[in-house]
Amino acid sequence: MKYIFVTGGVVSSLGKGLTAAALGTLLENRGLKVTLQKFDPYLNLDPGTMSPFQHGEVYVLDDGAETDLDLGHYERFTSTKLSRRNNTTSGQVYQQVLDNERNGVYLGKTVQVIPHVTDEIQRRITLLADETKPDVLITEVGGTVGDIEGLPFLEAIREFAQEAGPGNVCFLHVTYIPFIKAAGELKTKPTQQSVAKLREIGIAPHLLVCRCEHPINKELRQKLAMFCNVPFEAVIEEKDVDHSIYEVPLMLQRERLDDLVCKTLQLDVPPANMTPWQDIIRRLIAPQHRVRIGVVGKYIELQDAYKSVYEALIHGGIANDCGVQIEQIEAESVESGDPAKIFKGLGGLLVPGGFGDRGIEGKIRAARFARENGLPYLGLCLGMQIAVIEYGRNVLGLEGAHSTEFNPNTPHPVIDIQEGQKTVVQKGGTMRLGSQACRLEPGSRTAALYGTCLIHERHRHRFEFNNDYRKRFADAGFIFAGTTPDDRLVEVIEIPNHPFFIASQYHPEFLSKPNAPHPLFRGFIAAAHERLHSKPLLPVVTSAHPTSG
Ligand code: GLN
Repeated sequence: MKYIFVTGGVVSSLGKGLTAAALGTLLENRGLKVTLQKFDPYLNLDPGTMSPFQHGEVYVLDDGAETDLDLGHYERFTSTKLSRRNNTTSGQVYQQVLDNERNGVYLGKTVQVIPHVTDEIQRRITLLADETKPDVLITEVGGTVGDIEGLPFLEAIREFAQEAGPGNVCFLHVTYIPFIKAAGELKTKPTQQSVAKLREIGIAPHLLVCRCEHPINKELRQKLAMFCNVPFEAVIEEKDVDHSIYEVPLMLQRERLDDLVCKTLQLDVPPANMTPWQDIIRRLIAPQHRVRIGVVGKYIELQDAYKSVYEALIHGGIANDCGVQIEQIEAESVESGDPAKIFKGLGGLLVPGGFGDRGIEGKIRAARFARENGLPYLGLCLGMQIAVIEYGRNVLGLEGAHSTEFNPNTPHPVIDIQEGQKTVVQKGGTMRLGSQACRLEPGSRTAALYGTCLIHERHRHRFEFNNDYRKRFADAGFIFAGTTPDDRLVEVIEIPNHPFFIASQYHPEFLSKPNAPHPLFRGFIAAAHERLHSKPLLPVVTSAHPTSG
């Protein structure tokens, strides 16, 4: 088994996760079995209770783990299946160590960061490796070298490498080469200092991946090699991509990153065949068609809050050879103003998941506009609940219809807390989470898109459609296109006599990949294109989707 450790230098937000994921793509395409793991140095047990302002999206796995959004990159860029074992936080490590202490595991000893915390971190590397048996395990250490809370993780991987021996471990340091505009120069000093910091801990990186906005020339590479103690060819340039994050694997392949990793790890494998990936990039860079989609959300100014949603829309575009321009619309701004103006020129509206009542009325207006104007609508989780509230109020005439999340005293609780959630008091990890089976109604548009009637999709919610209203909605033409196999929970709804109005209680965005676009997003983009150009699109990707069966 071989191990790659990815660390970050100089600043955060360098896209370490993306780099690790892209390396995963390259290694997989060289025939290696790869898995990826993220260490997060914060003390929360998981990001589930953090605000999107703090953390961006919470990415949900099949097993219900609420994880860092980098795990989304890992799943989109590789075929690896992840579980809660693939994301470890300091909080989890300390919780385990303290449980051990209470259980007498360290009886007689003083419990310390070294060795007890560092041993627990190493145990988590080994555990994942033993369970998943990859050829290569890529472990990304969150944060920036120099952060106090990251130290135990760095010490742990240093010790781990020492045990594993040379040729089995590759340290890859992702760093930043700033461009000083006034001087017109790229600067290497911050990188030199962050590598010095790593070496102080006892880690000498094998490879430097240099994030930059301008190309780094030969002299600069020589300088970095000399002062960071790496061979000249181990200085890898990772410039900002022009079009899409999916270009990163190709860019790193041109820089021979995967060759160097394989050389360091003494892996004798053929070069990566990236032809199918190149075809995806072609469709992203020069698509035959184009659409504009409005995403009506609450964290619109944040790049990362709806990460998987934005990616899945792009994938829906890939499936239709269609470029997707995403318009981020602040839900609160839709509460007043003329929706016809706000949504002008859009091919479709998407309302993503969310919590809390800010902007809710704006989302309801958006759903109403989409329904009444034949504008394609895709609702995700809260986006489905919004569609139900809107239909209840404006079609069924249920005045004041609402979700009890937003108005506990509503006369018409069309969305209500799930029975099993009523007694839940702990906040973290207690929603209905992870992959659940869903039965689709034969003949529904949703079933036609999936091409099957049994699917598994990922969830993260406490509220649900209130079954007391099921008959009234059905009588008014509302379509329950998917439910749990026991029929107790509504999972997908459709509105009839509409070009495309589908909303799901689950989060389809978590199962979409550039090379396996999600059927709902594929259908949504096709409908949006048809709306704008009055021409149907023929899907170009037909591969089976992982949600099926
Ligand atoms: N707040 C809603 C619920 O808990 C929707 C959750 C979501 O969109 N992820 O049911």
